[in-house]
Amino acid sequence: MDKLRTVRGVHDTLPEVLDKHNKVIDKGLKISNQYCYSQIETPIFEFSEIFIKPLGKSSDIVTKENYIFKDRSDDELMLRPEGTSGVVRAFLNAGLIQEVPQRFSYFGPMFRYERPQKGRLRQFKQFGIECLGLSNPMADVEVISVGYDYLQELGLINSLTLKINTLGDEESRLNYRKVLIEYLNDYKSNLSEDSVKRLSQNPLRILDSKNQNDQKILIKAPNILDYLNQESKDRFEKVTEGLEALGIDYYIDKNLVRGLDYYCHTAFEFITEKLGAQGTVLAGGRYDGLSKMLGGPDIPGVGWAAGVERLSLMVESDFSNKPDVVLLGVSEEYNTSLLYIMKSLVKSGLKVEIFYTGSMSKKFKRANKINASFAIILGEEEIKNKVIKLKNLFSGSEELIRLETAIETIKNFSNN
Ligand code: ATP
Ligand code: MG
Repeated sequence: MDKLRTVRGVHDTLPEVLDKHNKVIDKGLKISNQYCYSQIETPIFEFSEIFIKPLGKSSDIVTKENYIFKDRSDDELMLRPEGTSGVVRAFLNAGLIQEVPQRFSYFGPMFRYERPQKGRLRQFKQFGIECLGLSNPMADVEVISVGYDYLQELGLINSLTLKINTLGDEESRLNYRKVLIEYLNDYKSNLSEDSVKRLSQNPLRILDSKNQNDQKILIKAPNILDYLNQESKDRFEKVTEGLEALGIDYYIDKNLVRGLDYYCHTAFEFITEKLGAQGTVLAGGRYDGLSKMLGGPDIPGVGWAAGVERLSLMVESDFSNKPDVVLLGVSEEYNTSLLYIMKSLVKSGLKVEIFYTGSMSKKFKRANKINASFAIILGEEEIKNKVIKLKNLFSGSEELIRLETAIETIKNFSNN
């Protein structure tokens, strides 16, 4: 059976769970569409530089988690680890820079070679939005607000907390970088191996470390908010004021950074205690530098991505595949007529399952098991009189009636 297993960290999604995924995605598409975000789809694989350039050569996603491969033309391709780079590339490629702002939503599978755990997979789905062409801090507020409404629609907002922070502009970040390096250098011998590496490559990313010892050292680390220039400070203030005006609660986490190179200014995450270590369900921020990193003009952007599997772990399932009516013949010779009847029922909007084989008692057992409300039964007498037998499976009552009448009865029942 070993051969039937999926690859580690990659799963089949059976109907009941997929139904939850689809509902999580549908709600996202619906709410973001009300905010005029239109759905876009980009390829699942791209030239690897589309991700490597903006994410940064030293980011985990690029160094450790990538699925890079060469195709038959010797092009180096990468399965997408995230959605933003592809959306911005598509926006540039479509020549939409004169038509900003542009608001996009997307969903689909992402791929990261991570250590699989509950809520951490190697193939997982994200739903996300991107707002391109607006540097106004109110766009950050809008984007966070769409996320807030989305999580509220899913019934999850009360079990989530919004953390926000700012990474400031480049000047502020450089100032902060210096003092952060000075502070962390004193603890160099106690930092994790990864963090020591990052100390020279990208020290800000150490703030994102999941290592407990690192986190202890970081408690007393200098606060970026103390190193922002006036412009970055004012900007952050406008964002928090905007959130307050909308009644969106947040707390500022000075160590919140996004692990990718293209972020600046606002960074935020909605987190829960309910999913253990994989508590971030929706995360995003501002990425004004991304367009330029891809070779395009300076186009500001802000957006977020939500983990569909993580959100699905939190929403209740109301999955049902219960038919309105089941069809059964007293013998197999009636199956063709039943298939013909099935078509009329489906055309009338009903949900139908047909039982082809087995004894009558077996068929009724299955009808009960799947919780069907009605059965349509066909035998010699029914065919002769051009009627069907409609059985109400709850009351047990039966009548010989015309198919059209039966359809009306079933429809009235299903609508009540
Ligand atoms: P984490 O801190 O949990 O590693 P991240 O910062 O890498 O998350 P992002 O790149 O911001 O996550 O992706 C946005 C969202 O996508 C996350 O908040 C999470 O819900 C989801 N996500 C990220 N990686 C995975 C994964 N390997 N498996 C399942 N969901 C994921
Ligand atoms: Mg991660």
